[in-house]
Amino acid sequence: MENMNQLRDLLKHEIKDLYSAEEQIIEALPKMIEKANNKNLKKALQDHLEITEKQKGRLDDALELLDEDREEKGKATLGLFKGQQKCLAMEGLISEGEKLMKEDMSPEVSDAAIIAAAQKIEHYEISSYGTAKAYAQELNLDEVENLLEETLGEEYEADELLTELAESRINQRASGESGSSRQRGRAGSRPGSPTSKNTSRRTATAKAASSRGASSARSRNGGGPAAGRSSSPSKSKGSSSRGKSSSGSRSSR
Ligand code: ZN
Ligand code: FE
Ligand code: FE
Ligand code: FE
Repeated sequence: MENMNQLRDLLKHEIKDLYSAEEQIIEALPKMIEKANNKNLKKALQDHLEITEKQKGRLDDALELLDEDREEKGKATLGLFKGQQKCLAMEGLISEGEKLMKEDMSPEVSDAAIIAAAQKIEHYEISSYGTAKAYAQELNLDEVENLLEETLGEEYEADELLTELAESRINQRASGESGSSRQRGRAGSRPGSPTSKNTSRRTATAKAASSRGASSARSRNGGGPAAGRSSSPSKSKGSSSRGKSSSGSRSSR
């Protein structure tokens, strides 16, 4: 089947492209780690560097699997890519980030720039691994698909963690600007105030579940006044949000 041979070549091309991307990331991350000011950001990048080494290894395994049964399925029909190929997109993303990091920025803004650059990289990876995984699935290459899937999950996690770091930076800034005399969590603070965002540490799945549940929560709230026309709505609202935050402390890590 000519078509499937071509798709196979395309998959191989994508995997080689990702291999080059991961190699470039391994080279770029140490500089980003060094530049990062926030220690949680430093740690996240450090952890991702270790994970990226493993991801590169998985791509090696995937290429080996693809080469193994090449003889049975015929030679490459596209003749596209022999040997090394460089991911030019990753080269561009990294050089943009590095250019930005040379600017004279406050530590906080510099961290924001690092997070932005890192997230662009993760999004590129998510899109490429997602595509490659779909090709492997179509070609019934289960082992290759599993390898790609595992890395795809890690890239999603990294992206999610970067979002959390960006959000905590913004929350920190907001609470810093509201003045230190007004303390959070005082008796007078209202449940459901913006600061309660700080307490929710969401995983990718938890976030997806909560955004899916958001509309039903909204309709539940909307149903409130009708249910208790004359009773105090603030009382029931307060108790329900307290219940929510205690169940929200469940951690999956
Ligand atoms: Zn390419
Ligand atoms: Fe990666
Ligand atoms: Fe690429
Ligand atoms: Fe990554």
